[in-house]
Amino acid sequence: MKNTKLVRWVLVCLLFSFSTMSVVLGAGELNSTWSYEGENNPDRWGEISIEYETCSTGLFQSPIHLTSSNLIRENGNIETHYQATPLVINNNGHTIEVNYKPGSYVLINGQKYELKQFHFHTPSEHSLNGKKSEMELHLVHQNEQGKIAVIGLFIKEGQANPTLATIWENLSEKQGIQEVKNKTINGANFIVNNPTYFHYQGSLTTPPCSENVLWNMITEPIEASRQQIEQFMDLYPMNARPIQEHNDRLVELIMNQSS
Ligand SMILES: [Zn+2]
Repeated sequence: MKNTKLVRWVLVCLLFSFSTMSVVLGAGELNSTWSYEGENNPDRWGEISIEYETCSTGLFQSPIHLTSSNLIRENGNIETHYQATPLVINNNGHTIEVNYKPGSYVLINGQKYELKQFHFHTPSEHSLNGKKSEMELHLVHQNEQGKIAVIGLFIKEGQANPTLATIWENLSEKQGIQEVKNKTINGANFIVNNPTYFHYQGSLTTPPCSENVLWNMITEPIEASRQQIEQFMDLYPMNARPIQEHNDRLVELIMNQSS
Protein backbone atom coordinates (compact mmCIF):
# COMPACT_ATOMS: atom_id res chain seq x y z
CA MET A 1 0.00 0.00 0.00
CA LYS A 2 2.72 2.34 1.04
CA ASN A 3 4.65 1.47 -2.10
CA THR A 4 1.67 2.13 -4.37
CA LYS A 5 1.26 5.53 -2.75
CA LEU A 6 4.92 6.23 -3.23
CA VAL A 7 4.76 5.18 -6.88
CA ARG A 8 1.73 7.42 -7.38
CA TRP A 9 3.48 10.29 -5.69
CA VAL A 10 6.55 9.84 -7.87
CA LEU A 11 4.32 9.74 -10.97
CA VAL A 12 2.55 12.92 -9.93
CA CYS A 13 5.89 14.58 -9.28
CA LEU A 14 7.19 13.46 -12.66
CA LEU A 15 4.07 14.67 -14.44
CA PHE A 16 4.27 17.96 -12.64
CA SER A 17 7.93 18.46 -13.49
CA PHE A 18 7.29 17.57 -17.15
CA SER A 19 4.46 20.05 -17.36
CA THR A 20 6.56 22.73 -15.66
CA MET A 21 9.41 21.89 -18.02
CA SER A 22 7.22 22.31 -21.06
CA VAL A 23 5.98 25.63 -19.73
CA VAL A 24 9.59 26.70 -19.21
CA LEU A 25 10.56 25.43 -22.67
CA GLY A 26 7.55 27.16 -24.18
CA ALA A 27 8.64 30.38 -22.59
CA GLY A 28 12.22 29.58 -23.59
CA GLU A 29 11.96 31.91 -26.54
CA LEU A 30 11.37 34.79 -24.18
CA ASN A 31 13.88 33.70 -21.56
CA SER A 32 16.62 33.28 -24.15
CA THR A 33 16.06 36.77 -25.55
CA TRP A 34 19.37 38.48 -25.10
CA SER A 35 19.51 42.18 -24.38
CA TYR A 36 21.93 44.99 -23.62
CA GLU A 37 20.63 45.75 -20.14
CA GLY A 38 18.89 43.91 -17.32
CA GLU A 39 18.92 40.20 -16.58
CA ASN A 40 20.16 39.06 -20.00
CA ASN A 41 22.86 41.73 -20.45
CA PRO A 42 26.11 41.05 -22.40
CA ASP A 43 27.90 39.59 -19.34
CA ARG A 44 25.25 36.86 -19.25
CA TRP A 45 24.91 36.08 -22.97
CA GLY A 46 27.13 32.99 -22.71
CA GLU A 47 24.83 31.49 -20.06
CA ILE A 48 21.50 32.15 -21.77
CA SER A 49 21.82 29.25 -24.21
CA ILE A 50 24.37 26.57 -25.06
CA GLU A 51 24.42 28.06 -28.58
CA TYR A 52 25.65 31.35 -27.13
CA GLU A 53 28.54 29.79 -25.20
CA THR A 54 31.21 31.39 -27.42
CA CYS A 55 30.08 34.79 -26.09
CA SER A 56 31.85 33.92 -22.82
CA THR A 57 34.44 31.31 -23.89
CA GLY A 58 35.64 32.80 -27.20
CA LEU A 59 39.16 34.22 -27.39
CA PHE A 60 38.68 36.24 -30.57
CA GLN A 61 35.63 38.29 -29.70
CA SER A 62 34.48 41.67 -31.00
CA PRO A 63 34.39 44.62 -30.54
CA ILE A 64 37.91 45.63 -29.50
CA HIS A 65 39.86 48.83 -28.88
CA LEU A 66 41.57 50.03 -32.05
CA THR A 67 44.61 52.29 -32.03
CA SER A 68 46.37 53.95 -34.92
CA SER A 69 49.81 53.19 -33.47
CA ASN A 70 51.80 49.92 -33.68
CA LEU A 71 50.02 48.81 -36.79
CA ILE A 72 51.32 46.50 -39.41
CA ARG A 73 50.76 47.99 -42.82
CA GLU A 74 49.57 45.28 -45.13
CA ASN A 75 49.47 45.16 -48.90
CA GLY A 76 45.96 43.78 -48.79
CA ASN A 77 43.14 44.79 -51.04
CA ILE A 78 39.53 45.60 -50.20
CA GLU A 79 37.16 46.60 -53.00
CA THR A 80 33.48 47.30 -52.45
CA HIS A 81 31.12 46.75 -55.40
CA TYR A 82 27.75 47.94 -54.14
CA GLN A 83 24.61 48.67 -56.13
CA ALA A 84 21.35 50.30 -55.09
CA THR A 85 18.78 48.00 -53.50
CA PRO A 86 15.02 48.42 -52.86
CA LEU A 87 14.59 49.81 -49.35
CA VAL A 88 13.58 47.00 -46.98
CA ILE A 89 13.83 47.88 -43.28
CA ASN A 90 13.80 45.31 -40.53
CA ASN A 91 13.26 46.59 -37.00
CA ASN A 92 14.39 43.31 -35.43
CA GLY A 93 14.10 44.25 -31.76
CA HIS A 94 17.86 44.74 -31.36
CA THR A 95 18.59 47.25 -34.12
CA ILE A 96 17.41 48.74 -37.40
CA GLU A 97 18.59 46.56 -40.24
CA VAL A 98 18.38 47.25 -43.98
CA ASN A 99 18.24 44.07 -46.06
CA TYR A 100 20.19 43.90 -49.30
CA LYS A 101 19.20 42.14 -52.52
CA PRO A 102 21.86 39.86 -54.11
CA GLY A 103 24.44 41.34 -56.46
CA SER A 104 26.44 43.68 -54.21
CA TYR A 105 29.70 42.39 -52.79
CA VAL A 106 33.14 43.15 -51.41
CA LEU A 107 36.40 41.59 -52.57
CA ILE A 108 38.79 41.10 -49.66
CA ASN A 109 42.18 39.98 -50.93
CA GLY A 110 40.40 38.50 -53.93
CA GLN A 111 37.76 36.66 -51.87
CA LYS A 112 34.17 37.55 -52.72
CA TYR A 113 31.66 38.23 -49.93
CA GLU A 114 28.04 39.06 -50.79
CA LEU A 115 26.45 42.04 -48.98
CA LYS A 116 23.43 40.75 -47.00
CA GLN A 117 22.38 43.64 -44.76
CA PHE A 118 23.58 46.64 -42.85
CA HIS A 119 22.56 47.85 -39.38
CA PHE A 120 23.41 50.30 -36.64
CA HIS A 121 24.66 50.47 -33.05
CA THR A 122 24.78 53.28 -30.53
CA PRO A 123 27.23 54.20 -29.15
CA SER A 124 29.93 52.70 -31.42
CA GLU A 125 31.00 49.18 -30.47
CA HIS A 126 34.68 49.54 -31.41
CA SER A 127 36.65 52.42 -29.98
CA LEU A 128 39.31 54.37 -31.83
CA ASN A 129 42.32 55.62 -29.83
CA GLY A 130 40.30 55.22 -26.62
CA LYS A 131 37.24 57.06 -27.90
CA LYS A 132 33.81 55.84 -28.89
CA SER A 133 31.72 57.51 -31.59
CA GLU A 134 28.01 58.25 -31.31
CA MET A 135 27.13 55.35 -33.61
CA GLU A 136 28.59 52.51 -35.66
CA LEU A 137 27.41 51.06 -38.96
CA HIS A 138 27.98 47.40 -39.87
CA LEU A 139 27.74 46.17 -43.46
CA VAL A 140 27.49 42.39 -43.14
CA HIS A 141 28.72 40.11 -45.94
CA GLN A 142 28.91 36.35 -46.35
CA ASN A 143 30.80 34.17 -48.81
CA GLU A 144 29.65 30.89 -50.38
CA GLN A 145 31.24 28.89 -47.54
CA GLY A 146 29.26 30.90 -44.97
CA LYS A 147 32.23 32.92 -43.71
CA ILE A 148 31.25 36.41 -42.57
CA ALA A 149 33.07 39.67 -43.32
CA VAL A 150 31.94 42.99 -41.88
CA ILE A 151 32.81 46.49 -43.05
CA GLY A 152 32.30 48.85 -40.13
CA LEU A 153 32.14 52.63 -40.00
CA PHE A 154 32.25 55.02 -37.07
CA ILE A 155 29.48 57.62 -37.21
CA LYS A 156 30.20 60.89 -35.40
CA GLU A 157 27.98 63.89 -34.81
CA GLY A 158 28.12 66.47 -37.59
CA GLN A 159 26.27 67.12 -40.83
CA ALA A 160 22.97 65.37 -41.56
CA ASN A 161 23.57 62.21 -43.57
CA PRO A 162 21.33 62.07 -46.68
CA THR A 163 21.46 58.27 -47.00
CA LEU A 164 20.47 57.86 -43.36
CA ALA A 165 17.69 60.39 -43.93
CA THR A 166 16.07 58.11 -46.53
CA ILE A 167 16.04 55.24 -44.03
CA TRP A 168 15.12 57.32 -40.98
CA GLU A 169 12.07 58.81 -42.79
CA ASN A 170 10.65 55.31 -42.74
CA LEU A 171 11.58 54.23 -39.23
CA SER A 172 8.83 52.65 -37.23
CA GLU A 173 8.55 51.64 -33.59
CA LYS A 174 6.77 48.54 -34.77
CA GLN A 175 9.02 45.51 -35.01
CA GLY A 176 9.17 43.53 -38.25
CA ILE A 177 10.05 43.86 -41.90
CA GLN A 178 8.81 46.83 -43.88
CA GLU A 179 9.16 47.09 -47.65
CA VAL A 180 9.22 50.78 -48.58
CA LYS A 181 7.63 51.32 -51.98
CA ASN A 182 9.53 53.20 -54.71
CA LYS A 183 12.61 53.84 -52.59
CA THR A 184 16.11 52.51 -53.11
CA ILE A 185 19.23 52.85 -51.04
CA ASN A 186 22.91 52.36 -51.88
CA GLY A 187 25.42 51.25 -49.26
CA ALA A 188 28.18 52.70 -51.48
CA ASN A 189 27.10 56.16 -50.26
CA PHE A 190 28.48 55.32 -46.82
CA ILE A 191 31.95 54.37 -48.05
CA VAL A 192 34.43 57.24 -48.04
CA ASN A 193 36.88 57.67 -50.93
CA ASN A 194 40.09 55.65 -50.66
CA PRO A 195 39.30 54.25 -47.24
CA THR A 196 41.86 52.82 -44.85
CA TYR A 197 40.75 49.74 -42.94
CA PHE A 198 41.66 48.18 -39.62
CA HIS A 199 41.60 44.51 -40.57
CA TYR A 200 41.40 41.81 -37.88
CA GLN A 201 39.84 38.44 -36.97
CA GLY A 202 36.93 38.72 -34.56
CA SER A 203 33.36 37.66 -33.95
CA LEU A 204 29.73 38.65 -34.29
CA THR A 205 29.03 41.31 -31.63
CA THR A 206 25.62 39.76 -30.89
CA PRO A 207 24.73 36.21 -29.84
CA PRO A 208 25.76 33.58 -30.88
CA CYS A 209 29.05 35.60 -31.00
CA SER A 210 30.41 33.21 -33.67
CA GLU A 211 34.10 33.66 -34.41
CA ASN A 212 36.06 33.58 -37.67
CA VAL A 213 34.48 36.91 -38.68
CA LEU A 214 36.71 39.12 -40.81
CA TRP A 215 36.49 42.69 -39.48
CA ASN A 216 37.29 45.72 -41.61
CA MET A 217 36.73 48.96 -39.71
CA ILE A 218 37.17 52.10 -41.78
CA THR A 219 39.42 54.54 -39.91
CA GLU A 220 37.72 57.71 -41.22
CA PRO A 221 34.33 58.36 -39.57
CA ILE A 222 31.21 59.44 -41.44
CA GLU A 223 28.74 61.97 -40.03
CA ALA A 224 25.13 62.12 -38.91
CA SER A 225 23.28 65.04 -37.35
CA ARG A 226 22.42 65.15 -33.64
CA GLN A 227 18.78 64.85 -34.65
CA GLN A 228 19.46 61.70 -36.69
CA ILE A 229 21.42 60.15 -33.84
CA GLU A 230 18.62 60.97 -31.39
CA GLN A 231 16.00 59.57 -33.74
CA PHE A 232 17.78 56.20 -33.64
CA MET A 233 18.25 56.44 -29.87
CA ASP A 234 14.51 56.98 -29.45
CA LEU A 235 14.13 53.39 -30.67
CA TYR A 236 17.39 51.92 -29.34
CA PRO A 237 18.98 54.05 -26.58
CA MET A 238 21.95 51.64 -26.17
CA ASN A 239 22.75 48.61 -28.32
CA ALA A 240 26.52 48.24 -28.14
CA ARG A 241 28.36 45.21 -26.74
CA PRO A 242 31.19 46.15 -24.34
CA ILE A 243 34.82 46.02 -25.56
CA GLN A 244 36.25 42.49 -25.50
CA GLU A 245 39.73 41.17 -24.67
CA HIS A 246 42.26 41.95 -27.40
CA ASN A 247 44.37 38.82 -26.71
CA ASP A 248 47.31 40.11 -28.75
CA ARG A 249 45.47 39.85 -32.00
CA LEU A 250 47.10 41.11 -35.13
CA VAL A 251 45.42 44.26 -36.46
CA GLU A 252 46.55 45.16 -39.96
CA LEU A 253 46.11 48.42 -41.79
CA ILE A 254 44.85 48.09 -45.36
CA MET A 255 44.93 51.19 -47.55
CA ASN A 256 43.40 51.09 -50.97
CA GLN A 257 40.68 52.33 -53.24
CA SER A 258 37.03 51.43 -53.19
CA SER A 259 35.11 51.28 -56.40
ZN1 LIG B 1 26.51 44.99 -35.64
